[in-house]
Amino acid sequence: MRLFVALPPPPESLDEVQRAFLPYHHAWPGLRWLSRDNWHVTLAFLGEVPDRVLPRLEERLARAAARHAPMTFSFTGAGAFPSARRSRVVWSGLDGPRADLVKLAASLQAGARRAGAVETDDKRLRPHLSVARSREDVDVRPLVAALSSFTGAPWEASEIHLVRSDLGARVRYQTVESWPLSRTTLQGG
Ligand code: ATP
Ligand code: MG
Repeated sequence: MRLFVALPPPPESLDEVQRAFLPYHHAWPGLRWLSRDNWHVTLAFLGEVPDRVLPRLEERLARAAARHAPMTFSFTGAGAFPSARRSRVVWSGLDGPRADLVKLAASLQAGARRAGAVETDDKRLRPHLSVARSREDVDVRPLVAALSSFTGAPWEASEIHLVRSDLGARVRYQTVESWPLSRTTLQGG
């Protein structure tokens, strides 16, 4: 199955992002706005993982989550991949302890690899919340500029989700398991 690990921001924070972008939807017909139900912050993309790896994977991810404390972030501004001038993905950024988040992501990724998830993507993490995509390059510089002053309220990242992605006409995500972030040691491990 195709899996990734994500942070689920609280609905109130997603509401803020949605409200910030909504006034611009009509002006950007080239962008496909992603379903709010699917919004997430990807921490680690694991790719195709064999079923037999799942128990070990879950053990490793639980252990990684238990070694990291909750963190506070707020959504801020807008940006685009690969660039604002030739955007394919539009996102809102994260303000907060990015170094800690990158460490958590690296730890999840290393654990997943050790468990046998061999398709793990090792590109450097650039934390973001994707809100729109396009099939062609779109110059979204005016959109990025218009949203530069957007800042949402702080929210606590307190758990991680292991999510299964079923690709198809409509992408469907399903949370397989979730673990709290807590810097305490696991019992019985
Ligand atoms: P689709 O691929 O059909 O457009 P999607 O990108 O939403 O849909 P997935 O490709 O399964 O679904 O990706 C799940 C999550 O992992 C998304 O947040 C996506 O941005 C991220 N992701 C996908 N591929 C990679 C990758 N190679 N490296 C890093 N993150 C990735
Ligand atoms: Mg994809």
